[in-house]
Amino acid sequence: MLMNNTKALVDARPALVLNADYRPLSYFPLSLWSWQDTIKAVFLDRVDIVSEYDQKVHSPSFEMALPSVVSLKRYVKPARYPAFTRFNLFLRDCFVCQYCNSREELTFDHVVPRSRGGRTIWTNVVAACSCCNLRKGAMLDSECGMRLRRQPFRPTNQDLQRAGRAFPPNYLHQSWVDYLYWDSELES
Ligand SMILES: [Zn+2]
Repeated sequence: MLMNNTKALVDARPALVLNADYRPLSYFPLSLWSWQDTIKAVFLDRVDIVSEYDQKVHSPSFEMALPSVVSLKRYVKPARYPAFTRFNLFLRDCFVCQYCNSREELTFDHVVPRSRGGRTIWTNVVAACSCCNLRKGAMLDSECGMRLRRQPFRPTNQDLQRAGRAFPPNYLHQSWVDYLYWDSELES
């Protein structure tokens, strides 16, 4: 789900970008750089190469294996909260309708409808199947007897990482796996 264009991604040979503490710079979306940007950063001395692909790039004067994992030389303070995106909202709700647990035809529902001033924010939007979405319409859940499984909340990066373990990306290069989901494994 994170990466549908698997083949294009493999062909693109991106590098997983780690912070100076060897954790991914970002999980959602996963911090990836194109090989072109990665090589530029290597030459600017901004990153260390942690792991490499078998593929090499050549020029008349040099040859270099494409980096598959790099780490920043200087630590960047990570954002505490993930971006408010469609994918991240589905991930917070574990790709399940928050009214009936269905996984079919997921859309978004405004808990307080927009027509009544409900805003498009973490705490007012939930994943909902189109059936429940239609049934609820412009009503409040109390008015139509529908109950939320859980009140919507603004997740931290850790919340999404925990949820993300159940929904790993379609494609992870072998050299990336060591650096992913490490925190949440230690917790459980
Ligand atoms: Zn539903």
